Amino acid sequence: AKLVYDFAEGNKDLKDLLGGKGANLAEMTRLGLPVPPGFTITTEACRAYLANGTEPAGLRDEVRAHLDALERRMGKRLGQGADPLLVSVRSGAKFSMPGMMDTVLNIGLSDASVDALAAQAGDERFAWDSYRRLIQMFGKTVLGIDGELFESALEDARRAADAATDVDLGAGELRSLVDTFKSIVRERTGRDFPQDPRTQMDLAVRAVFASWNGDRARLYRRQERIPHDLGTAVTICAMVFGNLGPDSGTGVAFTRDPATGHQGVYGDYLPNAQGEDVVAGIRNTVPLADLERLDAASYTGLLHIMEVLENHYLDLCDIEFTIERGTLWMLQTRVGKRTAAAAFRIATQLLDQGLIDEREALRRVTGNQLAQLMFPRFDVSAAETDVLGKGIAASPGAAVGAAVFDSATAVERAARGEAVILVRRETNPDDLDGMLAAAGILTSRGGKTSHAAVVARGMGKTCVCGAEGLDVDTGRRRFTTADGRVIEEGEILSIDGTSGTVHRGRVPVVPSAVVDYFEHGTGADDDDLVRSVDRIMRYADRVRRLGVRANADTTQDAARARRFGAQGIGLCRTEHMFLGERRDMVERLILATSDADREAALAALLPLQRGDFTELFEAMDGLPVTVRLLDPPLHEFLPDLTELSVRVATGDDPHDRALLPAVQRLHEQNPMLGLRGVRLGLVVPGLFTMQVRAIAEAASDRRAAGGDPHAEIMIPLVGTVQELEIVRDEAEREIARVEKARGTELSLSLGTMIELPRAALTAGQIAGSADFFSFGTNDLTQTVWGFSRDDVEASFFSAYLEKGIFGVSPFETIDRDGVGALVRTAARAGRAARPDLKLGVCGEHGGDPESVHFFDEVGLDYVSCSPFRIPVARLEAGRAAT
Ligand code: ADP
Ligand code: MG
Ligand code: MG
Repeated sequence: AKLVYDFAEGNKDLKDLLGGKGANLAEMTRLGLPVPPGFTITTEACRAYLANGTEPAGLRDEVRAHLDALERRMGKRLGQGADPLLVSVRSGAKFSMPGMMDTVLNIGLSDASVDALAAQAGDERFAWDSYRRLIQMFGKTVLGIDGELFESALEDARRAADAATDVDLGAGELRSLVDTFKSIVRERTGRDFPQDPRTQMDLAVRAVFASWNGDRARLYRRQERIPHDLGTAVTICAMVFGNLGPDSGTGVAFTRDPATGHQGVYGDYLPNAQGEDVVAGIRNTVPLADLERLDAASYTGLLHIMEVLENHYLDLCDIEFTIERGTLWMLQTRVGKRTAAAAFRIATQLLDQGLIDEREALRRVTGNQLAQLMFPRFDVSAAETDVLGKGIAASPGAAVGAAVFDSATAVERAARGEAVILVRRETNPDDLDGMLAAAGILTSRGGKTSHAAVVARGMGKTCVCGAEGLDVDTGRRRFTTADGRVIEEGEILSIDGTSGTVHRGRVPVVPSAVVDYFEHGTGADDDDLVRSVDRIMRYADRVRRLGVRANADTTQDAARARRFGAQGIGLCRTEHMFLGERRDMVERLILATSDADREAALAALLPLQRGDFTELFEAMDGLPVTVRLLDPPLHEFLPDLTELSVRVATGDDPHDRALLPAVQRLHEQNPMLGLRGVRLGLVVPGLFTMQVRAIAEAASDRRAAGGDPHAEIMIPLVGTVQELEIVRDEAEREIARVEKARGTELSLSLGTMIELPRAALTAGQIAGSADFFSFGTNDLTQTVWGFSRDDVEASFFSAYLEKGIFGVSPFETIDRDGVGALVRTAARAGRAARPDLKLGVCGEHGGDPESVHFFDEVGLDYVSCSPFRIPVARLEAGRAAT
């Protein structure tokens, strides 16, 4: 196969082969844009190199041929002659892996060619600056020398010359810096810096190949779920120089504002600089608009190119460019990253401009972006805010509270009604109470998979982690910012989990306009973000196949869910209806020693339950409501065994004493696998029957009142069809009794949750007794993995995520291969046994974008999720259908 493609031979659709960078450079070349010439070595060559440890046969010759052509075209020889050609050797995989692999600039410079370059450019400083950059980059990435060594030598040189930045270093100083760099290379590798240009190039190419398998890159791919066998392409590109003086420079640009989506001129420019200087933050950049003043011709040219790119890619593009003595060169482009708000705005702008259709607009936004827009945010425009630092946006939201440095204080202050931000260097399982009590969590160490990040996301709590500029001193209860300010315990902080910013003081929080729109239908006329959301949601609803229901237990939740677009309730948990004042009745039920006692306790609960269901059916009139019979172990309604034992031993409350035997009897080592779900229904006489009766009577009451109830009765934790048969027979008898007594037909349906592996594996049998299945993917994940959900997230999940064992918690996104396989099997077997079987899912996964796609794929009828996630599920169900 062909292993090397000239820029003129490729195009943007060849990302598999040429990587994103190579493919887009080829595309720009084809568009006639000013790209320095070059060629790209394919990912296939990389794969072969990695498999065999040597370059594939023919690569050397093909590279030679392309290099010859490049040299002919440029009229220069690589690193030779009076006007030496220099090139960059650039990595570029199919998926962008920022900072994971490397690029070496100025390949071809050597002791011999540096003088030629200086003479040719008429600029000695420039030549030595380029040479020191080559040795620095080559030393670090190709030779594997610690980059700090070069950095500190550079700093020493700056200090010695009293130079504020490296542009202030003169030719002489740079020349001696090159000597220092060369001796670092000699010292660290035992060899001299290679002087032969082709050797430099070949070594750089190999290093880029090998960087695909570097630890950082592997870990990144595991976490981002990028396959390991793709390999990287290597692009070799003739150098153009932005460090040739004040009429040269380098910059980055966006065709629209990636923050808001508005059209305009966005980017940064740095005169007299090369490559990464512009983003490295070592010198102050100027806004792109200033380029107009500095170099009007290049500026106009750039704007024109930006327009060409937008019209070609039909999307926001980001760009790297360099100006060499007044000539503009394009060095990279790709469809650019953007904020959530910008994604929606850009999609509808392009739709309005007729550049894309509705289907494409829907594809360009994601449920995660929509979810971000539904959090309240800080109004940073309201006042000058005092930014203390920035970390990783680990769990979205806007939290304001007093800084505290340990969990005990967090709990104590929160108990007094104070909002607190828990500030730690990093968190561990001992911090759990504090994390629960805090309004937000801030750490100075750790990434998106650190304990703090994982647990906060699980709790839905705002978290900024890895704010490395903050030096947290938990002993002295304070932290110090990068610029030396000290924040003591009790000071108010505002942390932004969506951007990662940490502010001092109380920043005003504004509610989400998008939520306001979902709640009240307002804003679509005057707010262009809301208008975008509205437009795209309407289209998603039109095209989606998958229904979206809510997990809701109260009429308030049900009403909100309905406003958010729910098409029914997929899970109404009845356990909440047994708490509060009703706890006494449940206690009586549990403590009953005779049938009469038990029946009295159930009889007292019946009207209350009936009332709950009547209200819920009213709120969801005309839509299905799936009511799950009591699921949790009974001891959850009783006091804790240890606490009660202590009270009994130390006090003399007769009630406590009466409770103790029951609490002891019901105590379980592993309650999640104990007496719960259908097992309760089979063991506690009359319990499920009472619930069924309450549902049936409530439905009948609603009918009588002119309503249209659609109740579905759901049996939890079934493992075998025999369990279901017994409960079903009893339920049917009870429903028949109510129907007879009320003289109506209720047409209630009876189904089961599929949340145990055995249920999934015997779904064909179970379907014989079920009108519907609802996959309880939370319990199914627990039981398939053997993970206790209440424990593992806080204990070892961050380690698992860091090791890349999974990229995301299986409780967050469905594990397709394991849990998902069971869902698929059960859905298929269930439908085979009973073609009209209704299938849904009611675990947290129902509101998770990736999981929604999976459920669509396996043919479920609906997903059910918490009310707040409903818009996300609707949007993703629409995307899944396009
Ligand atoms: P990354 O993938 O990290 O962006 P790049 O390969 O794009 O790495 O290169 C790093 C920097 O060097 C970028 O700023 C890029 O614009 C610049 N650069 C790369 N090749 C050249 C070249 N031939 N001439 C001038 N600058 C270059
Ligand atoms: Mg780049
Ligand atoms: Mg369950």
